Amino acid sequence: MLKPIFTATALSSFILLSGCSFDQSGDDKKEPKEEHPSSHHTETAKDDTKEKDSKESAQRQVEVDETVKPAQAGLQTLANPGSIPVLVNKQYSLPEDYKPEDLIYPKVDFIFQDKIEKRMMRKEAAIALERLFQAAEKDNMHFAGVSAYRSHQTQITVFNNYVAKDGEEKAKTYSAMPGTSEHETGLAIDVTTHDGACAAQDCFGDTNEAAWLAEHAHEFGFIIRYPEGKENITGYKYEPWHIRYIGVDAATEIFKTKSTLEEYYNAVPVEAVDK
Ligand SMILES: [Zn+2]
Repeated sequence: MLKPIFTATALSSFILLSGCSFDQSGDDKKEPKEEHPSSHHTETAKDDTKEKDSKESAQRQVEVDETVKPAQAGLQTLANPGSIPVLVNKQYSLPEDYKPEDLIYPKVDFIFQDKIEKRMMRKEAAIALERLFQAAEKDNMHFAGVSAYRSHQTQITVFNNYVAKDGEEKAKTYSAMPGTSEHETGLAIDVTTHDGACAAQDCFGDTNEAAWLAEHAHEFGFIIRYPEGKENITGYKYEPWHIRYIGVDAATEIFKTKSTLEEYYNAVPVEAVDK
């Protein structure tokens, strides 16, 4: 049932694509939380901490359900899709029938008014997002949500539309396969400045809000999921607007070590290591 991460290296092709595909909605899911079982350091020397961090990450495992037939080579199905720090990427897919059970509407502004799917997040993430937006306001930083949860069905529709238009091979280069979009977890959200400018655009990266987010997101349990310079590891181009809730401890560790969720689980694709 449980398979160690180290075997999950069979990424057939490592293509950078957008983690968000801003078509319509956002999806995500979640459930119980499962913080990693680690003794947290009372650090002595920096090197000690580093060594300990790498030991801890070596112990963390991505749990996969081997009874599910992969939708494609190199893709494994997660056994614990509701885990708060769950790793969803081009190697690890949510089960087809997964739907987060605790989706709510975070009380924050979005760039649209409608009460629709892409406004939702899992409860723990939604509350953390409210706290993040409130803290930002105190620093005179004004955010709005762009797209959060996207159901599996929505992702299927979006993906199929692209397949109909460009064929499956090409569609895969720019749209996440159903089950592999972080938006399906209910733990990810794309944000922008309150005026809605630069929503899902590179120019967001040049705003004061983006700088504030990069510096403070971890205090609220979020990480910049697809950082600059880590494209080979995450499989996604730099997206300063896409934040992912994983809990404060994990987010702080990733922030301090300037790493990624893949590295947190020691689940970096072999191709990335070689590059
Ligand atoms: Zn996104």
